[in-house]
Amino acid sequence: MRLSFDLHMHSCLSPCGGEDNTPANLAAMCALAGLQVVALTDHNTTGNCPAFCAAAQRHGLLALPGMELTTREDVHVVCLFPDLPAAQRFDGYVRARLPNIGNDPAYWGRQLLMDDGDNILGEETAFLAGAADIGVYDVHALAASYGGIAFPAHIDRSAFSLLGALGFWDPDMGFPLAELTPHCPPALRERPDLKGVPFIVDCDAHYLNQIPDAHQYMDLPEPTAHAVLDWLRRGGRS
Ligand SMILES: [Zn+2]
Ligand SMILES: [Zn+2]
Repeated sequence: MRLSFDLHMHSCLSPCGGEDNTPANLAAMCALAGLQVVALTDHNTTGNCPAFCAAAQRHGLLALPGMELTTREDVHVVCLFPDLPAAQRFDGYVRARLPNIGNDPAYWGRQLLMDDGDNILGEETAFLAGAADIGVYDVHALAASYGGIAFPAHIDRSAFSLLGALGFWDPDMGFPLAELTPHCPPALRERPDLKGVPFIVDCDAHYLNQIPDAHQYMDLPEPTAHAVLDWLRRGGRS
């Protein structure tokens, strides 16, 4: 079956995410946009994934719990998991490696924990905008050890990206594919070090108006998180 997808978006738990980006609003917008497979990937946390997955399920969407991890090198990496328990165990591993300082809501923004009915459960006080003490060469194997997958985010950006921070793609990092922004210059795909690297495009929405209409598709044997992860592990090949 052919399913539209976008696998990188933020809720109001990300300090830079709009406060209208509640998990319930986000799921509703994804459904309106015609997306069928979606993932919530807040910075260094999976705290709103239970609410997002529940809300998405009500709209008939296949939702994966995830996180946008910031590595020690300031590289953003999208990590996706087959289910909430796996994602939450990974969250615990990451949390123990975050800087031991609190968030400053006035500077960074509030970090709202929500339920799936638009109720605020609380405010995350840990500083989520920093880098975890996890190296970029270790992320893919680490995510895999939780049954998940990892791929570098928005590699065509200069800030917080693999190419921006390291300057090159190294197959030894183990990533099966790379993520581009919708505005990636065509020339980037032709870089010699990216030869053979499969790409997907994600919206990285921080605000509700950044959710795109369905525009890319995956072919899956069945509509399950495991099938999505397998498709990604194969570099987006069916
Ligand atoms: Zn990012
Ligand atoms: Zn992001």
